[in-house]
Order: sequence, then structure tokens, then C-alpha cells
Amino acid sequence: MSAHSRIPFVCGNWKLHHGREATGAQVRELVAGLPALRDRARIAVAPVVTCLAVAVEAAAGKLPIAAQNVHFAEKGAFTGEWSVGHLKELGVSYVIVGHSERRALFADNDETVAKKVRAVLDGGLLPIACIGETESQRENGKTKHVVTEEIEAILAAVRPDEADRLTLAYEPVWAIGTGKNASAQQAQEVHALIRSLLKKHFGTKAEVVCIQYGGSVKPDNVAILMAEPDVDGALVGGASLEAKSLLAIAQNAIR
Ligand code: PEP
Repeated sequence: MSAHSRIPFVCGNWKLHHGREATGAQVRELVAGLPALRDRARIAVAPVVTCLAVAVEAAAGKLPIAAQNVHFAEKGAFTGEWSVGHLKELGVSYVIVGHSERRALFADNDETVAKKVRAVLDGGLLPIACIGETESQRENGKTKHVVTEEIEAILAAVRPDEADRLTLAYEPVWAIGTGKNASAQQAQEVHALIRSLLKKHFGTKAEVVCIQYGGSVKPDNVAILMAEPDVDGALVGGASLEAKSLLAIAQNAIR
């Protein structure tokens, strides 16, 4: 499988934004825009957890819906949490795991991220596992080390026969919500490292894994990133809030 035969995959992360009404309206607009992509790019969207049911209903089976987080346990004394089983019941397809905001603000770490990835796979859903270095880690020359540690922890939880169910999102923390996206060369350098770690764990199956880039992706900068051989899509925050913008990103991601 060559890099360019991996179909671009763009996922919108709506963080703590749209409520039920806006979620339904934006999802319906996304669905209406899908035919124009002619199956040459895939889209998913991750609304606020309380809006997942509305999103699944509005998507009508045409657009996969993602959750932004999950607990790794099936059940138990975990006030305020939800499990993979609960997401499955709602008709959710993907789960974003280990987003840098979860790592920085809600104590997710390599161990819990690995457990969450495992739970998502065991429950039959699809993980989008996030990794990425902070600005000071990059400035101190630690990018390779940090990304390797984060990736190794995730891959230890995934069997080679599950490679095609895994999506990874390289999101340099300094590029998230800052308007400072990584250059195509900076992104490819890390994506190539990730691909080489995937090869070590999965052998030839490494080629099927989609590696998204995330960090200030917009309709006008996605094509240059997607021209790189190991950039297979994007995880998009701010520019995904309007369906028109997310559809334009998906359209411009087509190679
Ligand atoms: C994100 O939150 O995953 C993200 C990449 O945000 P933004 O596109 O706004 O930088």
C-alpha cells in the first residue's frame, strides 16, 4: 500500500462547543456535503458527549460520530465517566484518546491512554490516539524521545491484526489552537518516525495505519501537509466548527 492509497481521513474535534441544536444542524450540513467528496476523503466529527445521540441521529448512518474521551473501565465507581459500552449503545464509531488537553488538564498519561485504546478496541470501536510534544520539549530537542515514548505505550496495547482499526494523530501541542501550524517538513519528519515505529510493531501492516496531523489545520494549509507521504489526514479543532470549513478541509485533503 503506498502512502497515497490511504484515503485521507479528517476528524473534527468540537471540544466544549456546539450544543444539541447546533450539533444537529452542523452534522446535517456535513452529511449533505459528503457526495461532493466522491468517497475520496473520509470525515468524522466528535461533538460534546451530551450531544452524541443527536449527532448519531442527524448522521443517519452516513457520517461516523466520534467521542472525545472514554473511561477504560466497563463499569464501576467512576463518577462522571462513561464507558465504551455506553458509547456503543449510542451508535458512536470512533473515540479520540489521549488528546493533549486531556493529558494536560485531566491527568491522562501513557498508561491510561494505553488502557483506553485497549478498551476501545475490545469494545469494537475505533481509537484515534493522540501524541505530540510541547513547545519546550521541541525547543530542548526532545521531540523524537517524547513521541517515541507516547507511541510505544499505545502500540504495546494494539495487536498487529488490529492495525487497520487504529488511527494516530500527531498533534504538536504548540500548534493546537495557536494558529502556528507545523511546517509540512516538520510534520513529515515526525510522521516518518511514527511510521518506522509502526513498522517495528506491525511489520507490513504499518502501511494501513492512518496518521493524522493536528494543529491549526485550515482549508488553506491542509493540501501542503497532505502532500507529504506519511500525512494521511487531519484532526481539526477550531476550523471544524463550521461544516463548510470542515468539508473544505476534506476536499482540499484529497490527493
Ligand atoms: C485539536 O484540538 O485537536 C486541534 C488540532 O485544534 P486546532 O485545529 O484548533 O489547532
